[in-house]
Amino acid sequence: MYYKNNDKLHEECGVFGIFSRDADINVAAMSYLALYALQHRGQESAGIAIGDGEHIQLKKGMGLVSDVFADSDFPAAGGHMAIGHVRYSTSGQSCFENAQPMSRKFKQGEIAVAHNGNLTNIAVLKEMFEEMGYTFETSSDTEIIIKMIARAARKGIERAIDDTVQAIKGSYALVMIVENKLVGVRDPNGIRPLCLGKIGESGYVFSSESCAFDSLGAKFVRDVQPGEIVIIDDDGIKSINRNEKTFSQPCAFEYVYFARPDSVIEGISVHDSRRRAGKILWKEHPAEADVVIGVPDSGIDAAMGYAQVSGIIYDIGLVKNKYVGRSFILPDQKARELAVRIKINPLRSVIENRSVVLIDDSVVRGTTSRKIIQMLREMGATKVHMRVSSPVVAFPCYFGIDTPYRDQLMGAQLTVEQMCAEMGADSLGFLSIDGLLQSLDPNRSFCLGCLDGKYPISVHMEG
Ligand code: SF4
Repeated sequence: MYYKNNDKLHEECGVFGIFSRDADINVAAMSYLALYALQHRGQESAGIAIGDGEHIQLKKGMGLVSDVFADSDFPAAGGHMAIGHVRYSTSGQSCFENAQPMSRKFKQGEIAVAHNGNLTNIAVLKEMFEEMGYTFETSSDTEIIIKMIARAARKGIERAIDDTVQAIKGSYALVMIVENKLVGVRDPNGIRPLCLGKIGESGYVFSSESCAFDSLGAKFVRDVQPGEIVIIDDDGIKSINRNEKTFSQPCAFEYVYFARPDSVIEGISVHDSRRRAGKILWKEHPAEADVVIGVPDSGIDAAMGYAQVSGIIYDIGLVKNKYVGRSFILPDQKARELAVRIKINPLRSVIENRSVVLIDDSVVRGTTSRKIIQMLREMGATKVHMRVSSPVVAFPCYFGIDTPYRDQLMGAQLTVEQMCAEMGADSLGFLSIDGLLQSLDPNRSFCLGCLDGKYPISVHMEG
């Protein structure tokens, strides 16, 4: 039995791209290292495509970066452009065919694309193409992007990309290799992150998160703007943005949970925003307790902020097993019941005979919170005050994040009081939406769709 932690929202992908003519920069090896830095964004498949302007080589497979590229000499391969991808999928779609990057030959050449996000008009586009006689080999929306670009390529590749971007709707951070170009594209609302950096003498890199640049010694330049197409080739860098009226609304949950704390998205440090959220959480929901602890990893930063302003000591109350990923194999029912304990164990000397403030970044189904609270009580906690450094998740995401249907979202079904009773906590408090915006930037707009049901792009709502 394959266990997947379905009590968290899941990021679906991380993307990376590099263009460099420097003799001492191996673009495949750089992509391989960058994917390690982005591994938290997807653990089900990984892949790298390398281009030399004429041909594209591709290696991808199921599993972690270390599994896919184990014993492979691929990172030593030549070429001056590469793109990489790590993927998490919704259930039923975790298969080799959907692993990325995806590449195709077409009349004018070859193309490879890596995509993070979700197209909301995929059904219409697919139907249109099927009526024209096209067939699809995968259930991934990346395939339609490739087909659209290939079909329009006779107009010139830049025009083909531009036309495709005008036709697709939803969230997308794309990196692609085509002809002698590395291209990065971000959707008109900038829902999914994508940033641009410099590497070596004259090379460029794209990444879902800036932490990958730090790993490579690359320099962060800027975020790719919402609606922008950035094209890099031997003539340098070129930007196209035909969406004059773009309205930037990056995903608020990148800051809450998905991104690494050492990343900076849209000028906001992920770690700093989580710490601020913890401070505001204390102001909104103070608690009297002996110790503040955080659920590793992404509850830790907020727990430190909560402790700092409350004056309650912060301690490591939960120890995480570093060798268990977000998903793992569980042989039987007994093992499944122990799943949370395999990943997280309370530290008795911190917990015993103490009242505890337990901080987690979010609550999805609530099953993990209930188990952790139970473990804390078994370890001798006298009280457990649960605090959540994000607002109540009450709606699904349509932009590339795996969320359960509303009937399985605890926040959509129960009041806060009912959730508290269900979890077995002594008290429960969530950060308000206003508090979340204060922790990010109160003067800017963010996608909060899964929190308030208001989405940046119209979507088909399920009940
Ligand atoms: S709906 Fe939620 S998870 Fe999805 S993009 Fe918006 S804020 Fe992020």
